Amino acid sequence: MNLKLQQYINGNWVNAISGNTREIINPFNQEIIATVPEGDESDTRAAIAAARKAFDSGEWASVPAIERGTVVRKIADLIERDKQELAHLESLDTGKTLQESLGDMDDIADVFRYYGELADKDGGELVNSPVSNSISKVVHEPVGVCGQITPWNYPLLQASWKLAPALATGNTLIMKPSEITPLTTIKVFELMEEAGFPAGVVNLVLGAGDTVGAELANNTDVDLISFTGGVATGKKIMQAASVNVKKLALELGGKNPNIVFADADFEIAVDQALNGVFFHAGQICSAGTRLIVEESIHDEFVKALVERVKKFKLGSGFDDDTQMGPLISAEHLAKVEKYVEAGMEEGATIAAGGKRPEDPELKKGFFYLPTIFTDCTTDMRIVQEEAFGPIITVEKFRTEEEAVKLANDSIYGLAGGVWTTDSAKAERCVAKMRMGTVWINDFNLYFPHAPWGGFKQSGIGRELGRLGMEEYTETKHIFQNLNPKPINWF
Ligand code: NAD
Repeated sequence: MNLKLQQYINGNWVNAISGNTREIINPFNQEIIATVPEGDESDTRAAIAAARKAFDSGEWASVPAIERGTVVRKIADLIERDKQELAHLESLDTGKTLQESLGDMDDIADVFRYYGELADKDGGELVNSPVSNSISKVVHEPVGVCGQITPWNYPLLQASWKLAPALATGNTLIMKPSEITPLTTIKVFELMEEAGFPAGVVNLVLGAGDTVGAELANNTDVDLISFTGGVATGKKIMQAASVNVKKLALELGGKNPNIVFADADFEIAVDQALNGVFFHAGQICSAGTRLIVEESIHDEFVKALVERVKKFKLGSGFDDDTQMGPLISAEHLAKVEKYVEAGMEEGATIAAGGKRPEDPELKKGFFYLPTIFTDCTTDMRIVQEEAFGPIITVEKFRTEEEAVKLANDSIYGLAGGVWTTDSAKAERCVAKMRMGTVWINDFNLYFPHAPWGGFKQSGIGRELGRLGMEEYTETKHIFQNLNPKPINWF
């Protein structure tokens, strides 16, 4: 592997101070694909000190925004140049198909290009002042030292949503990727070194959440934490971050409803319901795991889903005909199996899947069959909790009100979909759906220009779009009196 396999701190490639390492496992066959340093609190503190010094020196923040944007856009060019290698690493590390990883790399380059182009578009704003002969202006400045923590499902995509806006706005940062999928993030740090940042602006620490991640959240020299991951971890980070009232951006879990009305285009709705949930083996925060189908088409819809699911081709991400890869780890597979047991105990019916595949070729991988549960009710754990695997639950509804009520019956509010050819009905539903993204006659689409994030326990703040950039800025009001006079109160 032509990769440095080290941490990047203060402009140097380094091993862990402790000398500890961690093996990175291929989820397709459990082979060791790399051995990387296992950093801890000491490495994290060294990276924070470097980022603090680099921020306080003002070296990066004072680079004109036009030039900062050029450097961020250069990262996009380098990602495109090394797209094949990056996609190969992402598929090795996560088990997803190479085609998916290549698509991810295009999206990631787009994110760096979008924020690179946005870097010089905010020159501040003059506001009306109530005082004659004065200037009142509002400017945006970088927040400071940013701790960025990412999950394993879209390792580099999630990292790009954080790196690009933070750098475009002049912050310094410490990135901690998921300890089980660090490879593409390491590679992008090589590319960022090539793009040319002053020492200490970008730092990479590898290691576990309860050491490296917790230190980032606890350390008073960190000004902002941007976290993507599970709700339970998000709550811990919120508590830890209160130590110095850090700014927080949290992208947490989802249990996303997908409502299908009887008047929807049947074939497209079936196709997209499958794609919405089984893409990347269901390991997507916005996966449409709760299918809510109008009663009159319920049986026919389920039949069509089952027929299609039985034909899915599971296998190596590097085989051209593979449609679905393995789950990320043995631990995660065990979690998914537990949820299926819970669904059966609670009285749901398995219409497809519900077990590991029998194909001996897949035995070494963490594979699970695409699983469809029918006879589901909203009180079941399988309907309420995020299994983060290839499982869909199907509920029935009779009226529009009932469909929306079922869709909103969740602690989460990340995303949801509505399928109907009646656009007035779609608009009525969408207005009542409590989610950060709602698709009408589509599912799982996102792009750099539109904000992404959750209502309720799905998170705080937004990534992508202009809002995703504002997360990394502080707002300053500057008032200048051009003709000062005494107030004569005292
Ligand atoms: P996770 O919460 O277990 O871990 C996420 C990251 O947090 C990892 O880097 C981990 O090492 C770190 N971490 C763990 N404990 C920590 C602690 N105490 N302090 C600081 N950091 C800590 O999540 P995961 O299993 O890696 O990812 C799956 C979850 O991510 C799902 O819930 C999914 O919905 C969510 N997710 C959300 C989005 C979104 O955009 N909303 C996108 C992708 C994934």
